[in-house]
Amino acid sequence: MSSHAAVRAAIGDNAPYDVMRVRQDFPILSRTVHDKPGRAGKPLVYLDSAASAQKPRQVIDAMKRFLEEDYANVHRGVHFLSQRSTDLYEATRDKAAAFLNAPSREHIVFTRNATEAFNLVAQSWGRANLKAGDAVLISGMEHHANIVPWQLLRDQIGIALKVVPVLDDGSLDMDAYADLLTDDVKLVAITHASNVLGTINPAKEIARLAHARGKTVLFDGSQAAVHGPVDVRAIDADFYIFTGHKLYGPTGIGVLYGRKEILDRMPPYQGGGDMISSVSFEETVYREAPYRFEAGTPPIIEGVGLGAAIDYVTALGMDAIHAHEQRLLAHAMDRLKDVDGLRVLGTAPAKAAIISFTVEGIHPHDIGTLLDRAGVAVRVGRHCAEPLMDRFGVGATARASFGLYNTEAEVETLVEAVKATKSFFG
Ligand SMILES: *Cc1c(COP(=O)(O)O)cnc(C)c1O
Repeated sequence: MSSHAAVRAAIGDNAPYDVMRVRQDFPILSRTVHDKPGRAGKPLVYLDSAASAQKPRQVIDAMKRFLEEDYANVHRGVHFLSQRSTDLYEATRDKAAAFLNAPSREHIVFTRNATEAFNLVAQSWGRANLKAGDAVLISGMEHHANIVPWQLLRDQIGIALKVVPVLDDGSLDMDAYADLLTDDVKLVAITHASNVLGTINPAKEIARLAHARGKTVLFDGSQAAVHGPVDVRAIDADFYIFTGHKLYGPTGIGVLYGRKEILDRMPPYQGGGDMISSVSFEETVYREAPYRFEAGTPPIIEGVGLGAAIDYVTALGMDAIHAHEQRLLAHAMDRLKDVDGLRVLGTAPAKAAIISFTVEGIHPHDIGTLLDRAGVAVRVGRHCAEPLMDRFGVGATARASFGLYNTEAEVETLVEAVKATKSFFG
């Protein structure tokens, strides 16, 4: 039995997940695309959730209601609305903590997105804890957001960047990883799930090996946190990062989980209002973590939206979402096997519902364009992971990524559209 078939068997065929009901929560999913006067459009088949997920009405409504009824600046006001606004915004910190199984809200720092969280760790933790000759160990399947901030730091203070190789099936080379945990490595910064290959990396084992040698461990959870349950304590992560807009929440807000003892010893990242407890021209005293990392007016409206998004996925159940997406993945992998010349990048046994593929003789951009004409939205290009493209010897891929609202019928539409693309170019 293939591993995907095993997953399907384990889940059972009648899991209580009503995707048609779920879809009704997402207004955009009922629109058509490419409508023209006198010609009906195509139903939207949205397979680009790995780039950004669509938003349920619950999130849209929470943000609208907040703006209409409760909005004011947070943390500084004694007036009714400011307190109400603060409560609603800060409630999301509790929700994010519960979502990751963090010990408390003090472990949760809000950022603008995942990218800013990496830059925060690099510039605050990195500058305070690393010196010339130290190394940061990343992997060959990182998103640019977990590469470039370390290169900036390398150019600033002379650290080295080391890379764990990726095996042919898209798994992390764990033997090489163990060998790379040399004394110079102070931080291991690796993605929990790849946005290109779908590979879910063995986070617990990665952390165990790194901690045994005294290293700090950061995970990029931008994909893992949307495809299944995450428990930062079970994994034993020191830092864990995800981004709101991929978790069915709004853009403009990301989450950095940090172990409290580590956050407490980190200097501020940016200076300004809200992150201080007192300021004079001679001396400024910073607030405790996490607030010292949140300079200026925070993403209040987005914070409220993210809280609603966390409520939404929690109510559906991250386990149920994972099981649903695994069914779609198994189905899609099965069906795509029938397409001649189609190559899937990333066939690791543990894989999130993300399928990057190439089709022999057809440029990925042409695949994307023809799929789009059929109403199927996939992403084409390098997926912010150029070194990984080089590793697999491809200039670009097409990527179909599935979310909690996708259906088996949409998988069929994808497969038929890929086949049509082949015969168009054949
Ligand atoms: C999307 C993504 C990021 C960056 O998220 P932003 O919201 O653009 O900051 C980082 N890592 C992975 C794996 C991603 O998929």
